[in-house]
Amino acid sequence: MRGNASTSRALNRRLILNLLRNRGPISRAELALATGLSPAAVTFVVTELMDDALVIEREAMSSANGRRPIPVDINYEAHLALGFKLNRDNIACVLTDLATTPLATLEAEVAETTPEGMIHAIEHTIPRLLTEARRDEKDIMGIGVSIPGEVDPQKGLCLQSPRFGWRDLPFAEMLAERVHAPVWIDDDVNAFAIAQKLFGAGRNHRNFAALAIGTGIGCSLVLNGEIYHGSNSSAGKLGHITSIPGGALCECGRRGCLMAHAAEPAMLDEYQRRKGAPTSRTAFAAAVDSGDETALTIVGEAGARIGRHLADLVNLFDPEVIIVGGEAVQFGDALLTPLRSAMEEFLFFSRPELLTDWVPSSWARGAAALATQSIFDFERSPSG
Ligand SMILES: [Zn+2]
Repeated sequence: MRGNASTSRALNRRLILNLLRNRGPISRAELALATGLSPAAVTFVVTELMDDALVIEREAMSSANGRRPIPVDINYEAHLALGFKLNRDNIACVLTDLATTPLATLEAEVAETTPEGMIHAIEHTIPRLLTEARRDEKDIMGIGVSIPGEVDPQKGLCLQSPRFGWRDLPFAEMLAERVHAPVWIDDDVNAFAIAQKLFGAGRNHRNFAALAIGTGIGCSLVLNGEIYHGSNSSAGKLGHITSIPGGALCECGRRGCLMAHAAEPAMLDEYQRRKGAPTSRTAFAAAVDSGDETALTIVGEAGARIGRHLADLVNLFDPEVIIVGGEAVQFGDALLTPLRSAMEEFLFFSRPELLTDWVPSSWARGAAALATQSIFDFERSPSG
């Protein structure tokens, strides 16, 4: 009985918090109407959420005919989440409120991509982020870390990360021991999708795909409002679909993967090959910007290649929209126009809209959302 009572309490909390997240501040009476809970039950849950500083009363709008009911809202400012997006050379770090609004950001250099090296770098950024935002450590409700690779978020386990050479690593637990805060981990593209689902362009969609193009390529699927992880935490690995059999060597050790031919490093390699001289990523981006024909051709070819495979994904899963993010969106129409038209060419029936997420901090905010989503989803428990 106690188990059932606490489960239904948790469900009611989640119901009310998600309604407030979607609709913004509304009165207790409106909450009762929208949830189907009794006014007494709503009052009970709201009081409990106010005691936990998760909900706050906002100012009532005055009206001509007397008092208006007091709207309640999520207390976004009272709690903090930390997000860390692990890369090969650096960690994108962010401190956010519950709405994943960044309060402080920084980029930490990484000397080595060992778990120890990453944990060391993370530990040192936390006080710096708190100082910059002038906030207190006690308000941190959790830490999210996004990792390029296959991650089991339930067990807090990095199953593999070819980019870092990690395998079966209990990263969440290792970090939680050092930072003394709950830690959530997931694949970086799933983290990006969770941020889109909570407070981004995916907010009002039950089914959508979140495509990220950067060092790798991934396409996370949100099906019926939940991330689809697959049976081995390896769903959505669009970047490892074979695009050219026997083609270029991929970081996963196989040949011809889409990312080995169309992710940013592949574009840069191809540019250097055609120009016959070494180039930096910045110089390549500048070449795209200035309309350099070779650079535009390469970005266009990559876009078309991604678009063709994306069409297959749409034909299989029929998402309402596709949200595109990642570093490569800065190439803008040079990438997105060929991507869109190749996708259109190979679509069977449904024609989802392609939305672009231009926010540069989306990766790290996604990581922070791994922690904040625990408030909106009672099923997931952290390590630590
Ligand atoms: Zn691969």
